[in-house]
Amino acid sequence: MKIQYKFLNYFNTIRYFLKDKKIQFDAAGTHLLADTSQKEHIQDFQAVVAIILNQQTRNYNVEKSMRNLKFNIYFNAAQVAKMSQKSFGKYLDGITYGGKKSDQIIQTAQILVNEFNGQVPTDPKELKKLKGMGKNSIELYLKRVESKQTKHVTLTPKTLLFLLRTQIITGKEIGIYQDENYLNNPEIQNYLQSFIDPILWKTLHIPIDLFVDEICQEEKPKCLECPLRDKCPTFQMSFQNNQNLLKED
Ligand code: SF4
Repeated sequence: MKIQYKFLNYFNTIRYFLKDKKIQFDAAGTHLLADTSQKEHIQDFQAVVAIILNQQTRNYNVEKSMRNLKFNIYFNAAQVAKMSQKSFGKYLDGITYGGKKSDQIIQTAQILVNEFNGQVPTDPKELKKLKGMGKNSIELYLKRVESKQTKHVTLTPKTLLFLLRTQIITGKEIGIYQDENYLNNPEIQNYLQSFIDPILWKTLHIPIDLFVDEICQEEKPKCLECPLRDKCPTFQMSFQNNQNLLKED
């Protein structure tokens, strides 16, 4: 599984776990998880699509629809510009006014291709020309542009330890989490930014930090209560070792 989807999968499990436990958090913006393996202008287009889909619709349904689009089509302006409402709309799942929004997105893709060389503009007056982009949507997009200038994924040692335990980060020296200075070095930042959108990390890290405090604690992780235990390699390894010990007894 691609590291970005593995991360998203873990992240969603954490979100539902916190919700069940009634632990409050604000993770608005997760739906904007553009495919960071794509070129910048494609990510920008995907973010515009997510913003349009998100109007009057729950993040969860936007995430599902965005995943369908990422997996099933060449999800860029040039390709979407050629699609019909029906062929685009079939990938939307639980989106309010899905037909109308499909039309708006296709028209937006056509405007981007014909007038902006496939690039999403950053001037609010030009953003206004895109279909389905009202005042709030433009503000949201401009926030994304603003945060793009400060590309940085800020990690705490305990969060990095969680990413190492779940093997979202692999092949790194296990000792690095003990020194905060290492967290900002370019090598680790490049790796993190290959699957975590730094623009979104500001909201994504909130539920993860809460989960780490509650369950995957540094000293004594509560693995038996953890919703990730079936997929967590650290737990699976220790479970296997204990089974072997029992067999030897
Ligand atoms: S199973 Fe244990 S080590 Fe793995 S994420 Fe959960 S609490 Fe952390």
